[in-house]
Amino acid sequence: MTKTIFEKIIDRELPSNIFFEDEKCIVIEDISPKAPIHLLIIPKKPIKMLSMTNEEDKDLLGHLMLITRKVSEELNVEDAFNIVINNGEKAGQTVFHLHIHFLAGKNFSELLPN
Ligand code: AMP
Repeated sequence: MTKTIFEKIIDRELPSNIFFEDEKCIVIEDISPKAPIHLLIIPKKPIKMLSMTNEEDKDLLGHLMLITRKVSEELNVEDAFNIVINNGEKAGQTVFHLHIHFLAGKNFSELLPN
């Protein structure tokens, strides 16, 4: 199996700006930011997409959510941020290694009209 871009970043085979790392995940700056703050929260386990997770990923998925909160606190944006997970090519996913987009400094609320 060929490695995804994110596996290569995790294995230090590709450069990236790393914001945070622990044994389960890595948080990097998006190379093509869509907001003033645009980070990617990436599990080290190479799961292709959210729809391919299962019961055994419960702790990992919870961990990613708590890291999201910690990132927001670290950046002092806990009062205003958005997270996005693109699942599948038709939904705009381009890197097939699960990741959470963390976006702040821009209002994305128009994407979900009231
Ligand atoms: P998605 O379209 O949801 O799969 O998101 C993939 C994201 O990865 C995009 O926002 C890209 O800008 C970002 N990306 C692609 N290559 C790199 C890279 N080498 N370093 C950081 N971010 C990247």
